[in-house]
Amino acid sequence: MAGKTTVGVLAMQGAFIEHEQAIKSCGANCLQVRRAQDLQEIDALIIPGGESTTMGKLLKQFNLLDEIKFQAEQGMPIWGTCAGMILMAKEIVDSNQIRLGLMNIEIKRNAYGRQVDSFETDLEVKGIGTTRAVFIRAPYVQKVWGDAQVLASYEDKIVMVRENNMLATAFHPELTRQKEIQEYFLQMI
Ligand code: GLN
Repeated sequence: MAGKTTVGVLAMQGAFIEHEQAIKSCGANCLQVRRAQDLQEIDALIIPGGESTTMGKLLKQFNLLDEIKFQAEQGMPIWGTCAGMILMAKEIVDSNQIRLGLMNIEIKRNAYGRQVDSFETDLEVKGIGTTRAVFIRAPYVQKVWGDAQVLASYEDKIVMVRENNMLATAFHPELTRQKEIQEYFLQMI
């Protein structure tokens, strides 16, 4: 990976430090994104896990919502993990929360229920192979349409989707030592 590539990590709320460390360990530069002008400095953007309703409100408040949408439409690679995946979705079941609404996916939030709210499993990902996946109060994807392509499912539920320059994972690759998903995203740049 070229050392000059800079990946932004949205740093309003949630698990952005872990993403920063993982991206740096792949050899790319990383920038914490908090203001619209930060988007001018980056080649790709990660939207981390956290609390999607809070993150949506903050995105709007800091004028990042429309700017990120604009960059995505211009082709900037964007990857949402967990809450980030929720924010990428056009449809969220039973929610009118603020979102980027970029991907042709329908999301169910907190979809695994309280009793198994966190778990870890091996996951088979199309074009990547087996990876270790950590799920924390994870959503899953109930439906995809248009150009959205399913890359991984867990127990018949869709947990990873790619749509052109956009990627979404219900799980947290930044919390394992494996780097396959980061490498995959860096190759989208
Ligand atoms: N349950 C959270 C939400 O709905 C997502 C959890 C996570 O990002 N780990 O926003």
